Amino acid sequence: MNDREVEAFYRTLSEAMPGRTATAKGPKDQPNPFRTCISCMCSAQSLDRNTAAATRALFRLARTPQSMARLPVESIAGAIRPCGLYNRKAQNILAFCNALIQRHEGRVPNTREALMQLPGIGRKCADIVLQFAFGIDTIAVDTHVYRVCNRTGLAPGTTADKTADTLLARTPGWALPQAHFWLIQFGKTYCTARAPRCEACPANTWCRYYRQSSAASK
Ligand code: SF4
Repeated sequence: MNDREVEAFYRTLSEAMPGRTATAKGPKDQPNPFRTCISCMCSAQSLDRNTAAATRALFRLARTPQSMARLPVESIAGAIRPCGLYNRKAQNILAFCNALIQRHEGRVPNTREALMQLPGIGRKCADIVLQFAFGIDTIAVDTHVYRVCNRTGLAPGTTADKTADTLLARTPGWALPQAHFWLIQFGKTYCTARAPRCEACPANTWCRYYRQSSAASK
């Protein structure tokens, strides 16, 4: 996609997708940066409802990095059991709490660079924390956003992190606050993983995949 097409693509999404709504994906009930970090760490390969249950259970045991760092790893693992991979995640949570205390006096930093230097925090988690807990406009690249970006040619990348860099650089400022929500909603309703609804897709005019498959079928 060239710049003009990127602009038109986002205009289409802005008209076709609801954007940030009460049902839009994201930890809107967790503006606390520490809680958002813990929720992100629990969320890997976990359903939203299981992540929420795990986070709630852990916060019943401890609500601050200091108190969480004093918990035995077995207690953390037991609390977050609903989200799966709980032993590894519990170790990461403990390491994260200790690093937060040692490097940042227990306060979650508000830059991507500092966040990504903390144990267990990757690019996607860092962007979610920036956007949802600190209100800094960015675009977290999850599986839906990654698929849409690569199929359409909006921000191709061999990894989610590379796509995230390109996407951030290419997204016009006016679209930045809502882009994360539009792209996820679009990926779930039209540009689905198994059977994208290309003929009904409002953005097919600008889509690389659609152009190529249309040309191949002629
Ligand atoms: S035309 Fe098809 S592949 Fe392209 S964005 Fe739309 S649904 Fe996705």
